[in-house]
Amino acid sequence: MEKLLLRNVDKENSHTIEVYLKGGGYSALRKALKEMSPDDVVEEVKLSGLRGRGGAGFPTGMKWEFAAADLKEPKFFVCNADEGEPCTFKDRVIIEKDPHALIEGMLIGAYATGCRYGYIYLRGEYPIGKKILERAIAEAYEKGFLGENILGTDFSFDLYVHSGAGAYICGEETALIESLEGKRGEPRIKPPFPVNAGYLWKPTVVNNVETLANVPLIIERGGKWYSQIGSPDCPGPKLFPVSGKVKRPGVYELPMGTPLREIIFEHAGGIVKDRKLKAVFPGGASSSLLTADEIDVPMDFPSLAKAGTMLGSGAIMVLDETDCVVKAALRLIEFFRHESCGKCTPCREGTDWLVRIMRRIEEGLGTEEDLDTILSVSETMENSFCGLGMAAHNPVASSVRKFRDEFLEHIKLGRCPFRSG
Ligand code: NAD
Ligand code: SF4
Repeated sequence: MEKLLLRNVDKENSHTIEVYLKGGGYSALRKALKEMSPDDVVEEVKLSGLRGRGGAGFPTGMKWEFAAADLKEPKFFVCNADEGEPCTFKDRVIIEKDPHALIEGMLIGAYATGCRYGYIYLRGEYPIGKKILERAIAEAYEKGFLGENILGTDFSFDLYVHSGAGAYICGEETALIESLEGKRGEPRIKPPFPVNAGYLWKPTVVNNVETLANVPLIIERGGKWYSQIGSPDCPGPKLFPVSGKVKRPGVYELPMGTPLREIIFEHAGGIVKDRKLKAVFPGGASSSLLTADEIDVPMDFPSLAKAGTMLGSGAIMVLDETDCVVKAALRLIEFFRHESCGKCTPCREGTDWLVRIMRRIEEGLGTEEDLDTILSVSETMENSFCGLGMAAHNPVASSVRKFRDEFLEHIKLGRCPFRSG
């Protein structure tokens, strides 16, 4: 497949505006501002079928339509660059290697929705990305792509980078907005959604980095062209970060709907030392795992939901036959316990309970009854206030359901069977 999202990343100095302009950069912005009305842009994005790449897959054109229809002022356009999910490192490639694609996507989105100010909320642990983005923004101001009366039109847009301080919860859009306002990053109740009441309670569009990098392509080549790539229900190119026990870990751009088996065994080279595949987390650290028999699934939102898991950020984490599923699930729930903001009881207490039970089992001190307790706590966590708590138990509960024998072996042996001695 022709590289679309990663078309620039292998070029020398791909992060500079000179290289971006040489490759046709900012021509989509020019086309949008000079030849299209804001409504035309929204319609084109709707026609493309683009769905959000942050994890939830909400239709981008519809989000923009809602924001455009809200006439409160000023409106804000926020890029969620707080990529904090373990094993998710796809947005980083765009931020560091093609920052102008992101800025151009934001400009087009801001024009379509009537936003005057923009923020890139950047993960605090991406200091290199911060320097690159700040430099790219300065370059875009110099060339007249940012600021007052862009390209001689009456569209004006100012853009700033805001660094997070290391809290995973600030990737949740309402916690991100609270943090941007200078408060502790805790989620707000939804609805109202940010498109109507976001930053400073004004209409605010929040889009993920990868989502925005798709936008110049859609405007340049048309929504119809885009809608024919990959899965009909959720088209387009998709970045899949692949990690764990594969021969060639990395970020792969493939059409949405590429089978998981093909990604692992063809693109990522198969399992290290030609061992057997054991299990895969197909959609980030909060997805339910799939066994080796379940990987003939197209990697798109509806297919993975049908398979009982989720596409999420599209991050694929692979375990081989030498990996302990109990230990892997324990590591993930330890992460979520640490990152739970503590605002609601099911998540704050649930993640802590799961860590304590899982540690006990991993150390060989668990009981069979613990497995029922894990599933019961997981069910309660479904009632958490935000997505973090609602999904945090997935790796643990799915491991118990699909690898019950491995848990029982830990209990029977009184130690981890993957540890010698
Ligand atoms: P969500 O379904 O609540 O919302 C998705 C988006 O659609 C939001 O922007 C929301 O404002 C908008 N939306 C939904 N309904 C709307 C409506 N009726 N009107 C207007 N706007 C509406 O999901 P979420 O909690 O924002 O995100 C959850 C996802 O985040 C998970 O699937 C997970 O995979 C992902 N995630 C990603 C990372 C990462 O690092 N990329 C980290 C953690 C979680
Ligand atoms: Fe905070 Fe977790 Fe509740 Fe979300 S689910 S509000 S992260 S405690």
